Amino acid sequence: MGFVLSDEQKAVQKVVREFVEKNIVPTVKERDEKCIFDRKLTDGLYEIGVQGLFHDKKYGGGGGLVQTYAVALEEVCRHDIGIAAATSVTSCLYAWPTWFYGTEEQRERFLRPILNGPKLGSFGLTEPNAGSDAAMQQTVAVKDGNNYIINGSKKFITNAGENDFILVFTMTDQSKGTKGITAFLMEGNTPGITYGRPELKMGINTSMQREVYFNDVKVGKNQLLGEEGIGFRIAMKTLDLGRISVATQGVGLAQGALDHAIKYTKERVQFGRPIASNQALQFMMADMQNLVDTSRMLLWRAAYNMDHGLPYALEASQAKLFATDAGMKVATDAVQLFGGYGFIKDFPVERLMRDAKIAQIYEGTNQIQRMVIASQILR
Ligand SMILES: Cc1cc2nc3c(=O)[nH]c(=O)nc-3n(C[C@H](O)[C@H](O)[C@H](O)COP(=O)(O)OP(=O)(O)OC[C@H]3O[C@@H](n4cnc5c(N)ncnc54)[C@H](O)[C@@H]3O)c2cc1C
Repeated sequence: MGFVLSDEQKAVQKVVREFVEKNIVPTVKERDEKCIFDRKLTDGLYEIGVQGLFHDKKYGGGGGLVQTYAVALEEVCRHDIGIAAATSVTSCLYAWPTWFYGTEEQRERFLRPILNGPKLGSFGLTEPNAGSDAAMQQTVAVKDGNNYIINGSKKFITNAGENDFILVFTMTDQSKGTKGITAFLMEGNTPGITYGRPELKMGINTSMQREVYFNDVKVGKNQLLGEEGIGFRIAMKTLDLGRISVATQGVGLAQGALDHAIKYTKERVQFGRPIASNQALQFMMADMQNLVDTSRMLLWRAAYNMDHGLPYALEASQAKLFATDAGMKVATDAVQLFGGYGFIKDFPVERLMRDAKIAQIYEGTNQIQRMVIASQILR
């Protein structure tokens, strides 16, 4: 694995950087303050090929590498991990398992429209009583002839209410524990599905999360993904890829915060000289740079492994844990380097610090990542 981007990857990076600078950077402050999820931005990321970048060409994807996807998504994450979350939930948590586990008929109905979008997907795993302990699913699917009837609710679902499709995890046989969980694909406007109010959050205000309610939702058995009882396995394998995308959020956000800190400390003068001339602050920024680079190397290793058919669950967890802790630390230090100005909303680093927190929490909290890593190395 090389650490230098190929010409193709550099070209993708340039296209995404230009899109982000033109469309995302000018509006991110207002979208954060007013909690606006702007679908035009995810549509735009679809149009320039980010959303479908690593997906199968046969269904309309770009056929690229996951590592190239990480390079592209990092450009978005440097300025707005909320929009990055919206597009990557669609790409990694909805479209990928639909491709990996889906039948041909399911790929045509539930994947092709996403890759020939712009469309958004959601991943419905979390419930009020099933967070870190995702096996505690209380949404129930009951077989009814050739159909299943689904009742229950999902919590904190990204893109909910905006989603064209949703992958939903349900309990089909409580007595079997994790082996009683079954996944279903469905359109977001399937009769019986309703959405709660947008969640009011600390950060990633540029994305949308709502509760999703299922009231006698009837789906055909041809909407069952994989087979009955393998839903938990589908969720865990999907989250391995999801963790690569959340690691990208950590890397991009940390890089963005460091870029702001370098620029500001070279411009801000106190005691008659730029504050960047103080060794105490130089050492802080040296440590920030190391965190960014180490995070990116862990991220690229996980992506490389996935691209080359190697095991990547451990590597994805390591990358997610390290990069999102790094994102939090680097963003917090960037606020410190800005002094009082870092604390007010005229400058972007306070937003990056608020945004950084969620990446340590979702797609498996960083405590859960440590459990995953420990269980793999102690096997
Ligand atoms: C903005 C946002 C977007 C989200 N998007 C989605 C989405 O699209 N789809 C989806 O399905 N979910 C989504 N989630 C849910 C998210 O993945 C969960 O919030 C997360 O997995 C944690 O679950 P919980 O909130 O129930 O916390 P809990 O599981 O209640 O955890 C509380 C605390 O206890 C710790 N803890 C729990 N068990 C253990 C243990 N055994 N050992 C050590 N520590 C432990 C946790 O690390 C955490 O610190 C989203 C959440 C948010 C806030």
